[in-house]
Amino acid sequence: MKKAYEKPAIFKLHTGMMNKFGSFASPLSRKIRKEIDGVKISELVEKFGTPLFVFSEKALRSKFREIKRAFTTRYPNVEFSWSYKTNYLDAICAILHDEGETAEVVSEFEYQKARRLGVRGNEIVFNGPYKPVDALKVAVAEGARINIDTFEEIADLEEVAAELGIKPKVAIRLNMDTGIHPQWSRFGFNLESGQAFDAVKRIAFGGKLELAGLHCHIGTFILEPKAYETEVRKMVDFAYKVEDEFGFKIEYIDIGGGFPSKNRLKGVYLPPEVVVPSIDEIADRICSALLSSLRPGDFPKLIIESGRAIVDEAGYLIAKVHATKRLPDGRKGYILDAGVNILFTAFWYHFNVEIDREVQGPSEPCVLYGPLCMNIDVVDELAYLPPLPRGTNLILSPVGAYNVTQWMQFIRYRPNVVLIGQNGEVDLIREAETLEDIVGRERLPERLKLNGN
Ligand SMILES: *Cc1c(COP(=O)(O)O)cnc(C)c1O
Repeated sequence: MKKAYEKPAIFKLHTGMMNKFGSFASPLSRKIRKEIDGVKISELVEKFGTPLFVFSEKALRSKFREIKRAFTTRYPNVEFSWSYKTNYLDAICAILHDEGETAEVVSEFEYQKARRLGVRGNEIVFNGPYKPVDALKVAVAEGARINIDTFEEIADLEEVAAELGIKPKVAIRLNMDTGIHPQWSRFGFNLESGQAFDAVKRIAFGGKLELAGLHCHIGTFILEPKAYETEVRKMVDFAYKVEDEFGFKIEYIDIGGGFPSKNRLKGVYLPPEVVVPSIDEIADRICSALLSSLRPGDFPKLIIESGRAIVDEAGYLIAKVHATKRLPDGRKGYILDAGVNILFTAFWYHFNVEIDREVQGPSEPCVLYGPLCMNIDVVDELAYLPPLPRGTNLILSPVGAYNVTQWMQFIRYRPNVVLIGQNGEVDLIREAETLEDIVGRERLPERLKLNGN
Protein backbone atom coordinates (compact mmCIF):
# COMPACT_ATOMS: atom_id res chain seq x y z
CA MET A 1 0.00 0.00 0.00
CA LYS A 2 1.32 3.45 -0.91
CA LYS A 3 1.96 5.60 2.15
CA ALA A 4 0.07 8.89 2.31
CA TYR A 5 2.32 11.95 2.21
CA GLU A 6 2.47 13.92 5.39
CA LYS A 7 4.17 17.27 5.75
CA PRO A 8 7.15 16.88 8.05
CA ALA A 9 6.93 18.37 11.53
CA ILE A 10 9.44 18.70 14.34
CA PHE A 11 8.40 17.63 17.81
CA LYS A 12 10.18 16.73 21.00
CA LEU A 13 10.21 13.09 22.00
CA HIS A 14 9.78 12.30 25.68
CA THR A 15 11.11 9.01 26.85
CA GLY A 16 9.78 7.21 29.89
CA MET A 17 10.57 10.10 32.27
CA MET A 18 8.19 11.50 34.84
CA ASN A 19 6.94 14.93 33.96
CA LYS A 20 3.95 16.97 35.03
CA PHE A 21 1.60 14.67 33.16
CA GLY A 22 2.93 11.51 34.76
CA SER A 23 5.15 9.11 32.92
CA PHE A 24 4.95 8.74 29.19
CA ALA A 25 5.21 5.45 27.47
CA SER A 26 8.30 5.03 25.36
CA PRO A 27 7.91 6.56 21.88
CA LEU A 28 7.96 3.10 20.38
CA SER A 29 5.59 1.42 22.77
CA ARG A 30 1.95 1.23 21.80
CA LYS A 31 -0.98 -0.65 23.08
CA ILE A 32 -2.57 -2.84 20.47
CA ARG A 33 -5.85 -4.66 20.94
CA LYS A 34 -7.24 -6.86 18.21
CA GLU A 35 -10.03 -8.50 20.14
CA ILE A 36 -12.30 -8.30 23.15
CA ASP A 37 -12.99 -11.62 24.88
CA GLY A 38 -11.82 -13.44 21.77
CA VAL A 39 -14.10 -11.53 19.37
CA LYS A 40 -12.18 -9.65 16.70
CA ILE A 41 -12.50 -5.84 16.70
CA SER A 42 -12.63 -6.02 12.90
CA GLU A 43 -15.66 -8.32 13.03
CA LEU A 44 -17.45 -6.15 15.56
CA VAL A 45 -16.84 -3.04 13.49
CA GLU A 46 -17.88 -4.69 10.25
CA LYS A 47 -21.13 -5.92 11.71
CA PHE A 48 -22.13 -3.06 14.00
CA GLY A 49 -20.19 -0.03 12.75
CA THR A 50 -18.53 2.63 14.87
CA PRO A 51 -18.76 4.17 17.34
CA LEU A 52 -19.65 1.00 19.18
CA PHE A 53 -19.98 0.32 22.89
CA VAL A 54 -18.93 -3.21 23.77
CA PHE A 55 -19.64 -4.86 27.11
CA SER A 56 -17.99 -8.02 28.37
CA GLU A 57 -20.33 -10.28 30.32
CA LYS A 58 -17.33 -12.22 31.56
CA ALA A 59 -15.63 -9.12 32.96
CA LEU A 60 -18.88 -7.89 34.50
CA ARG A 61 -19.69 -11.13 36.28
CA SER A 62 -16.16 -11.72 37.46
CA LYS A 63 -15.80 -8.18 38.83
CA PHE A 64 -19.09 -8.49 40.66
CA ARG A 65 -18.07 -11.84 42.13
CA GLU A 66 -14.71 -10.46 43.22
CA ILE A 67 -16.38 -7.57 45.07
CA LYS A 68 -19.09 -9.80 46.51
CA ARG A 69 -16.51 -12.29 47.77
CA ALA A 70 -14.51 -9.51 49.42
CA PHE A 71 -17.50 -8.62 51.58
CA THR A 72 -19.30 -11.91 52.12
CA THR A 73 -16.13 -13.57 53.41
CA ARG A 74 -15.83 -10.81 56.03
CA TYR A 75 -19.42 -10.17 57.15
CA PRO A 76 -22.34 -12.60 57.38
CA ASN A 77 -25.23 -10.43 56.16
CA VAL A 78 -24.56 -8.53 52.95
CA GLU A 79 -26.83 -7.35 50.13
CA PHE A 80 -25.67 -5.79 46.89
CA SER A 81 -28.10 -3.37 45.29
CA TRP A 82 -27.34 -2.38 41.71
CA SER A 83 -27.07 1.38 41.19
CA TYR A 84 -29.28 1.82 38.13
CA LYS A 85 -28.05 5.27 37.22
CA THR A 86 -24.52 3.90 36.74
CA ASN A 87 -25.74 1.74 33.86
CA TYR A 88 -29.38 0.86 33.38
CA LEU A 89 -29.24 -1.01 30.10
CA ASP A 90 -31.60 -3.96 30.51
CA ALA A 91 -28.95 -6.54 29.67
CA ILE A 92 -26.47 -5.16 32.20
CA CYS A 93 -29.09 -4.98 34.96
CA ALA A 94 -30.36 -8.47 34.09
CA ILE A 95 -26.87 -9.94 34.46
CA LEU A 96 -26.40 -8.29 37.85
CA HIS A 97 -29.86 -9.35 39.03
CA ASP A 98 -28.97 -12.86 37.91
CA GLU A 99 -25.87 -12.56 40.12
CA GLY A 100 -28.19 -11.75 43.03
CA GLU A 101 -28.18 -7.98 43.14
CA THR A 102 -31.33 -6.11 44.11
CA ALA A 103 -32.03 -2.70 42.48
CA GLU A 104 -31.06 0.74 43.77
CA VAL A 105 -33.06 3.44 41.99
CA VAL A 106 -33.25 7.21 42.23
CA SER A 107 -36.35 8.04 40.19
CA GLU A 108 -39.71 6.60 39.22
CA PHE A 109 -38.29 5.93 35.77
CA GLU A 110 -35.55 3.72 37.21
CA TYR A 111 -38.09 2.15 39.57
CA GLN A 112 -40.34 1.25 36.64
CA LYS A 113 -37.38 -0.08 34.67
CA ALA A 114 -36.43 -2.40 37.53
CA ARG A 115 -40.03 -3.61 37.99
CA ARG A 116 -40.30 -4.24 34.27
CA LEU A 117 -37.21 -6.48 34.48
CA GLY A 118 -38.98 -8.59 37.10
CA VAL A 119 -37.44 -7.10 40.25
CA ARG A 120 -40.00 -7.23 43.10
CA GLY A 121 -40.92 -4.07 44.98
CA ASN A 122 -39.29 -5.36 48.18
CA GLU A 123 -36.06 -5.88 46.24
CA ILE A 124 -35.82 -2.18 45.42
CA VAL A 125 -33.94 0.47 47.39
CA PHE A 126 -35.42 3.86 46.54
CA ASN A 127 -33.04 6.82 46.99
CA GLY A 128 -32.90 10.39 45.80
CA PRO A 129 -33.78 13.96 46.77
CA TYR A 130 -36.89 14.09 44.59
CA LYS A 131 -39.49 11.40 44.96
CA PRO A 132 -42.91 12.57 43.78
CA VAL A 133 -45.81 11.52 46.03
CA ASP A 134 -47.24 9.22 43.35
CA ALA A 135 -43.92 7.39 43.16
CA LEU A 136 -43.83 7.08 46.95
CA LYS A 137 -47.35 5.63 46.91
CA VAL A 138 -46.32 2.85 44.53
CA ALA A 139 -43.09 2.21 46.43
CA VAL A 140 -44.86 1.95 49.81
CA ALA A 141 -47.62 -0.26 48.42
CA GLU A 142 -45.03 -2.58 46.87
CA GLY A 143 -42.82 -2.72 49.97
CA ALA A 144 -39.76 -0.98 48.53
CA ARG A 145 -37.11 0.24 50.94
CA ILE A 146 -37.28 4.02 50.92
CA ASN A 147 -34.35 6.13 52.12
CA ILE A 148 -35.80 9.48 53.10
CA ASP A 149 -33.93 12.59 51.97
CA THR A 150 -35.86 15.57 53.39
CA PHE A 151 -38.32 16.59 56.12
CA GLU A 152 -40.95 17.13 53.41
CA GLU A 153 -40.52 13.52 52.37
CA ILE A 154 -41.26 12.39 55.94
CA ALA A 155 -44.54 14.31 55.75
CA ASP A 156 -45.33 12.95 52.28
CA LEU A 157 -44.72 9.39 53.48
CA GLU A 158 -46.93 9.89 56.50
CA GLU A 159 -49.76 10.95 54.23
CA VAL A 160 -49.18 7.97 51.96
CA ALA A 161 -49.09 5.66 55.00
CA ALA A 162 -52.37 7.05 56.30
CA GLU A 163 -53.99 6.75 52.88
CA LEU A 164 -52.86 3.14 52.41
CA GLY A 165 -53.54 2.22 56.05
CA ILE A 166 -50.11 0.73 56.64
CA LYS A 167 -47.10 1.59 58.80
CA PRO A 168 -44.21 1.29 56.34
CA LYS A 169 -40.64 0.59 57.33
CA VAL A 170 -38.42 3.43 56.17
CA ALA A 171 -34.83 4.59 56.46
CA ILE A 172 -33.20 7.99 56.47
CA ARG A 173 -30.24 9.11 54.47
CA LEU A 174 -27.42 10.64 56.46
CA ASN A 175 -24.62 12.94 55.39
CA MET A 176 -21.53 13.34 57.51
CA ASP A 177 -17.91 14.32 57.66
CA THR A 178 -15.78 11.34 56.70
CA GLY A 179 -12.77 13.39 55.65
CA ILE A 180 -13.91 13.44 52.01
CA HIS A 181 -14.18 16.88 50.40
CA PRO A 182 -16.34 18.31 49.06
CA GLN A 183 -18.74 16.79 51.57
CA TRP A 184 -21.97 15.66 49.92
CA SER A 185 -24.11 17.54 52.44
CA ARG A 186 -26.96 18.27 50.06
CA PHE A 187 -28.39 14.75 50.38
CA GLY A 188 -30.21 13.49 53.43
CA PHE A 189 -29.85 14.76 56.98
CA ASN A 190 -26.63 15.99 58.50
CA LEU A 191 -25.32 13.89 61.33
CA GLU A 192 -22.96 16.24 63.15
CA SER A 193 -25.39 19.17 63.33
CA GLY A 194 -28.10 17.08 64.98
CA GLN A 195 -30.37 17.33 61.94
CA ALA A 196 -30.41 13.56 61.50
CA PHE A 197 -31.41 13.08 65.11
CA ASP A 198 -34.21 15.62 64.63
CA ALA A 199 -35.42 13.65 61.61
CA VAL A 200 -35.63 10.49 63.70
CA LYS A 201 -37.41 12.38 66.47
CA ARG A 202 -39.85 13.71 63.90
CA ILE A 203 -40.52 10.18 62.57
CA ALA A 204 -40.98 8.82 66.12
CA PHE A 205 -43.43 11.55 67.14
CA GLY A 206 -45.37 11.20 63.89
CA GLY A 207 -46.00 7.57 64.79
CA LYS A 208 -46.91 6.57 61.23
CA LEU A 209 -43.54 5.26 60.04
CA GLU A 210 -41.19 2.61 61.39
CA LEU A 211 -37.52 3.52 61.15
CA ALA A 212 -35.73 0.35 60.08
CA GLY A 213 -32.58 1.49 58.31
CA LEU A 214 -29.88 4.06 57.80
CA HIS A 215 -28.37 5.08 54.51
CA CYS A 216 -25.39 7.14 53.45
CA HIS A 217 -23.44 7.61 50.22
CA ILE A 218 -20.30 9.64 50.79
CA GLY A 219 -19.35 10.36 47.18
CA THR A 220 -17.99 8.68 44.10
CA PHE A 221 -14.52 7.41 43.11
CA ILE A 222 -13.41 7.45 46.74
CA LEU A 223 -9.68 6.69 46.88
CA GLU A 224 -9.49 6.69 50.68
CA PRO A 225 -10.68 3.44 52.36
CA LYS A 226 -10.43 5.17 55.75
CA ALA A 227 -13.45 7.32 54.80
CA TYR A 228 -15.64 4.20 54.70
CA GLU A 229 -14.38 3.14 58.09
CA THR A 230 -15.38 6.52 59.50
CA GLU A 231 -18.74 6.32 57.74
CA VAL A 232 -19.52 2.87 59.15
CA ARG A 233 -18.51 3.75 62.72
CA LYS A 234 -20.64 6.88 62.67
CA MET A 235 -23.61 4.98 61.23
CA VAL A 236 -23.42 2.21 63.83
CA ASP A 237 -23.10 4.70 66.70
CA PHE A 238 -26.11 6.58 65.40
CA ALA A 239 -28.09 3.36 64.92
CA TYR A 240 -27.65 2.42 68.58
CA LYS A 241 -28.43 5.94 69.69
CA VAL A 242 -31.83 5.89 67.95
CA GLU A 243 -32.51 2.29 68.98
CA ASP A 244 -31.88 3.13 72.64
CA GLU A 245 -33.73 6.40 72.57
CA PHE A 246 -36.78 5.56 70.44
CA GLY A 247 -37.08 1.77 70.47
CA PHE A 248 -36.64 1.39 66.71
CA LYS A 249 -34.67 -1.61 65.41
CA ILE A 250 -32.16 -0.72 62.71
CA GLU A 251 -32.28 -3.73 60.40
CA TYR A 252 -30.01 -2.41 57.68
CA ILE A 253 -27.04 -0.15 57.28
CA ASP A 254 -26.74 0.97 53.69
CA ILE A 255 -23.31 2.45 53.05
CA GLY A 256 -23.97 3.51 49.43
CA GLY A 257 -21.36 3.09 46.70
CA GLY A 258 -18.43 5.13 45.46
CA PHE A 259 -15.73 2.47 45.23
CA PRO A 260 -13.29 3.49 42.47
CA SER A 261 -12.69 1.58 39.25
CA LYS A 262 -9.28 1.24 37.60
CA ASN A 263 -9.74 4.49 35.70
CA ARG A 264 -7.27 7.34 35.52
CA LEU A 265 -8.71 10.45 37.11
CA LYS A 266 -7.50 13.68 35.50
CA GLY A 267 -5.12 15.56 37.75
CA VAL A 268 -4.00 12.35 39.43
CA TYR A 269 -0.65 11.67 37.83
CA LEU A 270 0.07 8.25 39.21
CA PRO A 271 -1.48 5.29 37.40
CA PRO A 272 -4.66 3.67 38.76
CA GLU A 273 -2.68 0.56 39.71
CA VAL A 274 -0.93 2.75 42.27
CA VAL A 275 -3.64 5.07 43.57
CA VAL A 276 -6.76 2.89 43.45
CA PRO A 277 -7.05 0.80 46.64
CA SER A 278 -7.90 -2.86 46.21
CA ILE A 279 -11.42 -4.00 46.92
CA ASP A 280 -10.06 -6.24 49.66
CA GLU A 281 -8.58 -3.25 51.42
CA ILE A 282 -11.88 -1.37 51.21
CA ALA A 283 -13.93 -4.39 52.33
CA ASP A 284 -11.54 -5.01 55.18
CA ARG A 285 -11.88 -1.46 56.49
CA ILE A 286 -15.67 -1.57 56.24
CA CYS A 287 -16.22 -5.01 57.74
CA SER A 288 -13.65 -4.56 60.51
CA ALA A 289 -15.27 -1.27 61.47
CA LEU A 290 -18.69 -2.96 61.50
CA LEU A 291 -17.64 -6.00 63.51
CA SER A 292 -15.75 -3.95 66.07
CA SER A 293 -18.54 -1.43 66.66
CA LEU A 294 -21.64 -3.69 66.57
CA ARG A 295 -23.02 -5.15 69.78
CA PRO A 296 -22.44 -8.89 70.27
CA GLY A 297 -24.81 -11.03 68.21
CA ASP A 298 -26.15 -8.08 66.23
CA PHE A 299 -25.62 -8.38 62.48
CA PRO A 300 -27.76 -5.80 60.70
CA LYS A 301 -27.82 -6.19 56.93
CA LEU A 302 -24.98 -4.37 55.21
CA ILE A 303 -26.26 -2.97 51.92
CA ILE A 304 -23.74 -1.95 49.29
CA GLU A 305 -24.78 0.12 46.29
CA SER A 306 -21.56 -0.08 44.35
CA GLY A 307 -21.94 1.03 40.71
CA ARG A 308 -18.81 2.24 38.99
CA ALA A 309 -16.44 -0.36 40.48
CA ILE A 310 -18.59 -3.20 39.15
CA VAL A 311 -19.36 -2.11 35.60
CA ASP A 312 -16.73 0.39 34.50
CA GLU A 313 -14.05 -2.07 33.44
CA ALA A 314 -16.56 -4.23 31.57
CA GLY A 315 -17.18 -1.48 29.00
CA TYR A 316 -15.21 -0.44 25.90
CA LEU A 317 -15.87 2.08 23.17
CA ILE A 318 -14.58 1.50 19.67
CA ALA A 319 -14.15 4.78 17.81
CA LYS A 320 -12.75 5.37 14.34
CA VAL A 321 -10.18 7.93 13.20
CA HIS A 322 -11.99 10.06 10.65
CA ALA A 323 -9.36 12.74 9.95
CA THR A 324 -6.03 14.11 11.12
CA LYS A 325 -4.60 17.58 11.42
CA ARG A 326 -1.44 19.22 12.64
CA LEU A 327 -2.29 21.84 15.26
CA PRO A 328 -0.46 25.19 15.36
CA ASP A 329 1.30 24.17 18.59
CA GLY A 330 2.81 21.14 16.86
CA ARG A 331 0.58 18.52 18.39
CA LYS A 332 -1.34 16.20 16.21
CA GLY A 333 -5.11 16.29 16.29
CA TYR A 334 -7.35 13.36 15.41
CA ILE A 335 -11.05 13.65 14.70
CA LEU A 336 -12.93 10.61 15.91
CA ASP A 337 -16.52 9.56 15.28
CA ALA A 338 -17.18 9.52 19.04
CA GLY A 339 -17.05 12.50 21.35
CA VAL A 340 -18.30 13.81 24.65
CA ASN A 341 -21.89 13.38 23.47
CA ILE A 342 -21.51 9.67 24.18
CA LEU A 343 -18.49 9.80 26.51
CA PHE A 344 -19.63 11.96 29.33
CA THR A 345 -16.90 10.67 31.64
CA ALA A 346 -14.18 12.06 29.33
CA PHE A 347 -14.47 15.25 31.39
CA TRP A 348 -12.98 13.42 34.40
CA TYR A 349 -10.89 10.53 33.12
CA HIS A 350 -7.98 9.80 30.83
CA PHE A 351 -9.07 6.56 29.23
CA ASN A 352 -6.82 3.76 28.30
CA VAL A 353 -6.36 4.16 24.51
CA GLU A 354 -5.54 1.10 22.44
CA ILE A 355 -5.30 0.77 18.65
CA ASP A 356 -6.51 -2.07 16.49
CA ARG A 357 -3.40 -2.50 14.33
CA GLU A 358 0.35 -2.15 14.20
CA VAL A 359 1.48 1.17 12.77
CA GLN A 360 4.91 2.53 11.92
CA GLY A 361 6.47 5.67 13.31
CA PRO A 362 7.23 7.16 16.70
CA SER A 363 4.54 8.04 19.20
CA GLU A 364 3.88 11.72 19.78
CA PRO A 365 1.55 13.82 21.92
CA CYS A 366 -1.83 14.22 20.31
CA VAL A 367 -5.35 15.40 20.98
CA LEU A 368 -8.40 13.25 20.37
CA TYR A 369 -11.38 15.30 19.22
CA GLY A 370 -14.93 14.12 18.86
CA PRO A 371 -17.27 14.82 15.93
CA LEU A 372 -19.24 17.68 17.47
CA CYS A 373 -19.07 21.31 16.36
CA MET A 374 -18.17 22.31 19.90
CA ASN A 375 -14.82 23.34 21.25
CA ILE A 376 -15.37 21.27 24.39
CA ASP A 377 -15.62 18.07 22.39
CA VAL A 378 -12.28 16.62 23.47
CA VAL A 379 -12.00 12.94 24.32
CA ASP A 380 -8.38 13.25 25.45
CA GLU A 381 -6.19 16.34 25.37
CA LEU A 382 -3.04 14.33 25.88
CA ALA A 383 -2.88 10.94 24.27
CA TYR A 384 0.46 9.57 23.12
CA LEU A 385 0.10 7.72 19.87
CA PRO A 386 1.98 6.76 16.72
CA PRO A 387 0.79 8.25 13.41
CA LEU A 388 -2.61 6.71 12.88
CA PRO A 389 -3.94 6.24 9.36
CA ARG A 390 -7.49 7.24 8.64
CA GLY A 391 -9.82 4.36 9.51
CA THR A 392 -7.77 3.13 12.48
CA ASN A 393 -10.03 2.03 15.31
CA LEU A 394 -9.27 3.17 18.83
CA ILE A 395 -10.49 1.12 21.74
CA LEU A 396 -11.19 3.32 24.75
CA SER A 397 -11.65 1.88 28.22
CA PRO A 398 -12.90 1.66 30.89
CA VAL A 399 -16.16 3.30 29.85
CA GLY A 400 -18.82 1.00 31.35
CA ALA A 401 -19.97 3.39 34.09
CA TYR A 402 -22.10 6.49 33.57
CA ASN A 403 -21.61 6.79 29.80
CA VAL A 404 -24.53 4.82 28.43
CA THR A 405 -26.80 6.58 30.92
CA GLN A 406 -25.45 10.14 30.77
CA TRP A 407 -24.87 10.17 27.01
CA MET A 408 -26.97 12.63 25.15
CA GLN A 409 -28.65 12.82 21.82
CA PHE A 410 -26.89 15.96 20.68
CA ILE A 411 -25.94 16.55 17.04
CA ARG A 412 -25.51 12.82 16.42
CA TYR A 413 -27.47 9.63 17.01
CA ARG A 414 -26.50 7.40 19.90
CA PRO A 415 -24.69 4.28 18.61
CA ASN A 416 -25.10 0.53 18.89
CA VAL A 417 -24.24 -1.26 22.12
CA VAL A 418 -23.29 -4.94 22.07
CA LEU A 419 -22.69 -7.53 24.73
CA ILE A 420 -20.15 -10.31 24.36
CA GLY A 421 -21.50 -13.33 26.22
CA GLN A 422 -19.45 -15.81 28.15
CA ASN A 423 -19.25 -18.18 25.18
CA GLY A 424 -18.18 -15.45 22.79
CA GLU A 425 -21.68 -14.84 21.41
CA VAL A 426 -22.30 -11.23 20.39
CA ASP A 427 -25.72 -9.69 21.02
CA LEU A 428 -26.95 -6.25 20.11
CA ILE A 429 -28.32 -4.90 23.42
CA ARG A 430 -29.20 -1.40 22.29
CA GLU A 431 -29.79 -0.48 18.70
CA ALA A 432 -28.37 2.74 17.27
CA GLU A 433 -30.93 5.53 17.12
CA THR A 434 -32.56 6.66 13.93
CA LEU A 435 -34.30 9.85 12.87
CA GLU A 436 -37.63 8.26 13.77
CA ASP A 437 -36.61 7.77 17.43
CA ILE A 438 -36.02 11.46 17.78
CA VAL A 439 -38.71 13.09 15.65
CA GLY A 440 -41.34 10.57 16.74
CA ARG A 441 -41.87 12.68 19.87
CA GLU A 442 -42.08 16.00 18.05
CA ARG A 443 -45.27 17.73 16.92
CA LEU A 444 -45.02 20.25 14.10
CA PRO A 445 -47.99 22.65 14.02
CA GLU A 446 -49.85 22.37 10.69
CA ARG A 447 -49.25 26.03 9.84
CA LEU A 448 -45.46 25.59 9.97
CA LYS A 449 -45.23 22.77 7.49
CA LEU A 450 -43.00 23.34 4.47
CA ASN A 451 -43.87 22.38 0.90
CA GLY A 452 -46.85 20.29 1.92
CA ASN A 453 -44.73 17.90 4.06
C1 LIG B 1 -24.73 7.03 42.24
C2 LIG B 1 -25.04 6.36 43.49
C3 LIG B 1 -24.48 5.12 43.81
C4 LIG B 1 -23.42 4.45 42.97
O1 LIG B 1 -22.23 5.17 43.05
P1 LIG B 1 -20.87 4.63 42.38
O2 LIG B 1 -19.91 5.74 42.60
O3 LIG B 1 -21.14 4.40 40.93
O4 LIG B 1 -20.50 3.37 43.09
C5 LIG B 1 -24.90 4.50 44.97
N1 LIG B 1 -25.81 5.07 45.79
C6 LIG B 1 -26.36 6.28 45.53
C7 LIG B 1 -27.35 6.85 46.46
C8 LIG B 1 -25.99 6.97 44.38
O5 LIG B 1 -26.53 8.16 44.13
